[in-house]
Amino acid sequence: MSTLELNYQNVLHRLQQACAQSNRPAQNVRLLAVSKTKPAAMVEAVYAMGQRSFGENYLQDGMDKITALAHLQDIEWHFIGPVQSNKTRPIAEHFQWVETLERDKIARRLSEQRSPQRPALNVLVQVNISAEEQKAGVLPDDAHALCALVSELPNLRLRGLMCIPEATDNEARLRTQFQAMQALFQQLAAEFPTMDTLSMGMSGDLELAVECGSTEIRIGTDIFGARDYPSPYPPNN
Ligand SMILES: *Cc1c(COP(=O)(O)O)cnc(C)c1O
Repeated sequence: MSTLELNYQNVLHRLQQACAQSNRPAQNVRLLAVSKTKPAAMVEAVYAMGQRSFGENYLQDGMDKITALAHLQDIEWHFIGPVQSNKTRPIAEHFQWVETLERDKIARRLSEQRSPQRPALNVLVQVNISAEEQKAGVLPDDAHALCALVSELPNLRLRGLMCIPEATDNEARLRTQFQAMQALFQQLAAEFPTMDTLSMGMSGDLELAVECGSTEIRIGTDIFGARDYPSPYPPNN
């Protein structure tokens, strides 16, 4: 077995264990394979192992792979990087999901630029759950307003919430943040019935995230290996 396949099987195994531990069916939690900066050939290899959802956070890097792998019909691309307003068109045209929505203006542009002939663009609202100052995402109190807007826009489909918690090893702090996300998600999903996705949990904290109700974990390094620069954002992004 290749290192890539071993890594992939290990992550699937950890996810299954985490679900079993929390008495949740394994198919309730999607694995998003974060392939940013990694070559199309690696994505194709993981696709051949059965993986379908891939996450990219840098537009050009993602577009190169989407183009190169256009023959893989049921592959699903999730944009998980900061969305700049001058880059919304290719995102609206070529991705199936945007997980990092945080502004009204971007929501309107994505809806305008998504062809009504295509299935709606799936959207997660990014929440700054740790309320850190320079961090991306809406504050928890502002999530409702942005969800309401997205739910009204014709070519978007509101699917849920996403967060990147504080970078800390302190499990109690992480748990508090994941639980706050779960509560916010449940409250909003009661009002917006298209919401079915709570994206939280990465390599170091997937077990805790699954325990707190995550329905999508985002894993890069543990599948594809280390990147050449510090996680999560590439240079000049
Ligand atoms: C890079 C990235 C990940 C995956 O990070 P790893 O440490 O490589 O597993 C998850 N979520 C987002 C938003 C990212 O940018």
